Amino acid sequence: VKHGGRGKACFFDAEMDEATRARRQIESELRHAITRNQIHVSYQPIYGALSGEVSGYEALMRWNRPGHGISEPDVFIPIAEESGSIVQLGEWVLREACTEAARWPHPLTIAVNVSPVQFMLPNLCERIEAILEETELAPDRLEIEITEAALIRDRDRVMATLQRLRSLGVHIVMDDFGTGFSSLSNLRTFPFDKIKVDRSFTGMLEHDAASRSIVRAIIGLGHSLGMPVVTEGVETETQRQIVLEEGCAQVQGFLLGKPDIEPSIKLAAKSLLSS
Ligand code: C2E
Ligand code: CA
Ligand code: CA
Ligand code: CA
Repeated sequence: VKHGGRGKACFFDAEMDEATRARRQIESELRHAITRNQIHVSYQPIYGALSGEVSGYEALMRWNRPGHGISEPDVFIPIAEESGSIVQLGEWVLREACTEAARWPHPLTIAVNVSPVQFMLPNLCERIEAILEETELAPDRLEIEITEAALIRDRDRVMATLQRLRSLGVHIVMDDFGTGFSSLSNLRTFPFDKIKVDRSFTGMLEHDAASRSIVRAIIGLGHSLGMPVVTEGVETETQRQIVLEEGCAQVQGFLLGKPDIEPSIKLAAKSLLSS
């Protein structure tokens, strides 16, 4: 017997390939990560392109994995999505981020990534609503970032969820725009408030005329549909200058601020208090 069925029992450990083993290990550790206090939220500032001021933060999940340091979301989130633990993790991040934002001295926005797997829940909207009530965060300060992968399955349910969230005042952001499929019809069909240009375009802006054309087109599209456009992954002054010239509304990236466990807004408030 080579396979002990899918899941638990596997009798020939030696035959299980290393990658599968590593994956299973991550899966099982992730199940306890919240109760063991290993999950944190890091906050990256988002700036108004014209004002040059912070308009909000994006909440990014961090896993302090024993023996491995801070684990990369790009590695563990897909595993959590496959095993289903992203539902608990995502909800934890949402609650934590809303609690945090509710304490800020200014009513800045807080953007939270919601996985396509969470969108398969029948009661996602109720869960978000409950967190907003519990944390007393004004719904219009919450931005839900979703990727096009969330729009593929059960489009009617996703549509109903997005419409209900919007009727509460929550804003919906189309994340990683330009990398998915059938982007244009999704923009027409679903009620988005904002578009985030994928950072793969930003990284190419200075060297590749095509990337600049694409970013210009996305910003133009956003304008004509009444949706402001955010450019993420801005790492250089030249990139910032280019997207500003193209009419981008907001910018985010290492040039302006890295994700940080302690958002800069709190540091500013603290230094005011101590001065
Ligand atoms: P994302 O939503 O596109 O988030 C932006 C990612 O770009 C973050 O990576 C951020 O640290 C990184 N970034 C920001 N500015 C720059 C820059 O100037 N240069 C470069 N090279 N990178 C920049 P991070 O935190 O590693 O997250 C990776 C992805 O993991 C996120 O991509 C998102 O898809 C996912 N993720 C993170 N937190 C959560 C979460 O709470 N829930 C869900 N479902 N997904 C999450
Ligand atoms: Ca995002
Ligand atoms: Ca993104
Ligand atoms: Ca991404």
